[in-house]
Amino acid sequence: MSAVSDVTRMTAAQIAGLISSGEASAVEVTTAHLDRITAVDERVHAFLHVDREGALAAAAAVDIRRGKGEELGPLAGVPIAVKDVVTTKGVPTTAASKILEGWKPPYDATIVSRLREAGMVMLGKTNMDEFAMGSSTEYSAYGPTNNPWDLGRIPGGSGGGSAASLAAYEAPLAIGTDTGGSIRQPGAVTGTVGAKPTYGGTSRYGLIAFSSSLDTPGPCARTVEDTALLHAVIAGHDPRDSTSIPQPVPDVVAAARLGATGDLTGVKLGVVKEFAGEGAEPGVMAAFHESVEALVKLGAEIVEISCPHFEYALPAYYLIAPSEASSNLARFDGVRYGVRVGDDGNRSLEEVMSLTRDSGFGPEVKRRIILGTYALSSGYYDAYYGQAQKVRTLITRDFTKAFDQVDVLISPTTPFVAFPFGSRTSDPYQMYLADLYTIPTNLYGGPAISVPCGLSEGLPVGFQIMAPTMADDRMYRVAAALESAVGTFTPPEL
Ligand code: GLN
Repeated sequence: MSAVSDVTRMTAAQIAGLISSGEASAVEVTTAHLDRITAVDERVHAFLHVDREGALAAAAAVDIRRGKGEELGPLAGVPIAVKDVVTTKGVPTTAASKILEGWKPPYDATIVSRLREAGMVMLGKTNMDEFAMGSSTEYSAYGPTNNPWDLGRIPGGSGGGSAASLAAYEAPLAIGTDTGGSIRQPGAVTGTVGAKPTYGGTSRYGLIAFSSSLDTPGPCARTVEDTALLHAVIAGHDPRDSTSIPQPVPDVVAAARLGATGDLTGVKLGVVKEFAGEGAEPGVMAAFHESVEALVKLGAEIVEISCPHFEYALPAYYLIAPSEASSNLARFDGVRYGVRVGDDGNRSLEEVMSLTRDSGFGPEVKRRIILGTYALSSGYYDAYYGQAQKVRTLITRDFTKAFDQVDVLISPTTPFVAFPFGSRTSDPYQMYLADLYTIPTNLYGGPAISVPCGLSEGLPVGFQIMAPTMADDRMYRVAAALESAVGTFTPPEL
């Protein structure tokens, strides 16, 4: 039993090793994580729903397969937490909105089917900002998640629950979605790793859509290797998603293992000039610069790169994302899913729809729907949405030009460390700034990863590595090299 006594502190790779060698059963591993959730989640609130029975049944099935000597995948029996914006058959899925309270999807998202096929064990669904709109989980209709590093601070958003579940040792792996930074920014502020794959590299089928041209599901973990292992399980072509790329996924696991040898000889890293300094906390910049020096010691070459249109990314994003959201969220009408309000037999369909949407959506979601409807309305479309799409093209050109000169681009992941609850909710713009450095990648469609690189005032700082589309392996190599140089970061005991 001693081998499994601290199983919640292990990496996914270590856990998988214990299970495949027979030193631990999947049921033991799952029970340890469920017990940890019971012990700490009242304080962390990473989970909206814990599927104890489903998890134990999945784990038992893996143990039976192993007992029969069946070939198991590299992550078989490893527990995982899934962001509540991803549909899970028969398991409540709310996107942290009141409007979907009680909804049990009739199908699994493609990425969830792949987890199940890989023999992975879903522990439950994690908290998030409502419909993935936000950077702090303060916009969850079910109350925020607390950052395990300091329970009075935000865990990032929108995927704060997934990131916090890792930092609190409730799960070794988690699924996030990244539309403007919602995997990377929570990773940065919780001292965990989060990767946004190439757009189209992971299937959107079964994701509750926010902004369809930007939404990208991806892996979250405590180490780069674990992140890569999960990436390999979920990625790859899906005929059910018309934007899924019909090409093989680069070998991200091999790239992470190569990077872990700590040799970056000949690798060119582009420091984005526009992100070096302005608006970032001094402690964040200090950790970033120290990490750059560490990468130079590993043989990397640093090139300063100007991406002149990146400064327009935030305004372009806040037209494109709300525009697409206003269209995607039209389906929540009180007829098809979840909650219905005011249907007393005397009201018209329009009245019921309006009452349902008024009480079902929170303030940030309403703000985005109003903004998006306005930007798409006739007479304004060209001036706002059309213009934002042109800016998107210019940002993409900045990336492609940069990648003619360097292998990857680097920056801090986020301008500031985890902030105290309530400090940015009164001014939406202050909240939007959390994604200043992550949003350009989404507009371009390339992959990017956040890896912990140091502490500022005792709180984790994230380092972002951005790569060309379908070159996800490159960012894993650099991320693993950085991790080998700076190590991983452990929060105080809860
Ligand atoms: N924080 C950004 C927003 O509020 C990004 C969200 C996301 O990536 N889902 O839109």
